Amino acid sequence: MTAQIIDGKAIAATIRGEIKAEVDDMRAKTGKVPGLAAVLVGDRKDSQTYVRMKKRACEEVGITSFGYDLPGDISQEELLKVVQELNDNPDVHGILVQLPLPKHINEEEVLAAISIEKDVDGFHPLNIGRLSMKGRDPLFVPCTPKGVIELLDRSGVTIEGKNAVVLGRSNIVGLPVAMLLLHRNATLTICHSRTPDIPAVTRNADILIAAVGRAEMVKGDWIKPGAAVIDVGVNAVDDPTAKKGYRLVGDVDFDSAKEVAGKLTPVPGGVGPMTIAMLLRNTMDGAKRAYGLS
Ligand code: NAP
Repeated sequence: MTAQIIDGKAIAATIRGEIKAEVDDMRAKTGKVPGLAAVLVGDRKDSQTYVRMKKRACEEVGITSFGYDLPGDISQEELLKVVQELNDNPDVHGILVQLPLPKHINEEEVLAAISIEKDVDGFHPLNIGRLSMKGRDPLFVPCTPKGVIELLDRSGVTIEGKNAVVLGRSNIVGLPVAMLLLHRNATLTICHSRTPDIPAVTRNADILIAAVGRAEMVKGDWIKPGAAVIDVGVNAVDDPTAKKGYRLVGDVDFDSAKEVAGKLTPVPGGVGPMTIAMLLRNTMDGAKRAYGLS
């Protein structure tokens, strides 16, 4: 069997097109467009790149982006003041504080200070709390986990009643994606670094989500024939033949997995593009709520 490759790039482009049409519709109805504030603290190159990509994606669909580049030695109080100003700004519908924050900043306090109506990353404890409870809807779901579910849905994978296995239990990926699968009535197993014999567990998975950050850990013989496999991992491995001296691989060994899986995401070009598309989706949804359009 050769897996159908799930093209995250193409699916994300379709979603961006849908959001652009909604922005045009909002502008026509209200004269307003959604606004996203991206708060960057310090000068980490990777964070600068992520924020730049997010701002560019906003511009492409007509969402206004507000950039806040703050010095790395900003105090907790000053940063909280910026967050409060953004909470009060009616043109801002989403607030994104790029993580990680410098060590002297209390990240938990900053994330909790974001209004839950503008918490487009979905990391506010109330949104995460609602996500973790039966019958409670969070206002926003974290972007990468939301993107994973969207990939499954748009690839025609039925979640209800299926055995789903999530590798990893982090706050930003593993745990929320597991909650989403449970809400969609999958029968769920979560594996982590203390789980013995992970291959024995994954071989029963109709849906396998890998989010461990271990290059090519999941081999083809860990996978149930025909399973849908979503690879969240992004790992740099040395490659002297590559221009940069390294290449990016997932948590799944793509070559052996594609011979067994029914559907499989590549890295890059799978989950990655979906994360930004879901940030735009969340910002749009926040703006619709603010303008009474949802
Ligand atoms: P993380 O915070 O480091 O969490 C990794 C999880 O995997 C932990 O729960 C850990 O278990 C588990 N784990 C680690 N080694 C393991 C092993 N050998 N066997 C079983 N479980 C193991 O990582 P993360 O932030 O969730 O990210 C996971 C991966 O996704 C990374 O490669 C990251 O770059 C990628 N990512 C991609 C996107 C995207 O947009 N594509 C977004 C976010 C993250 P314990 O809890 O027991 O320590």
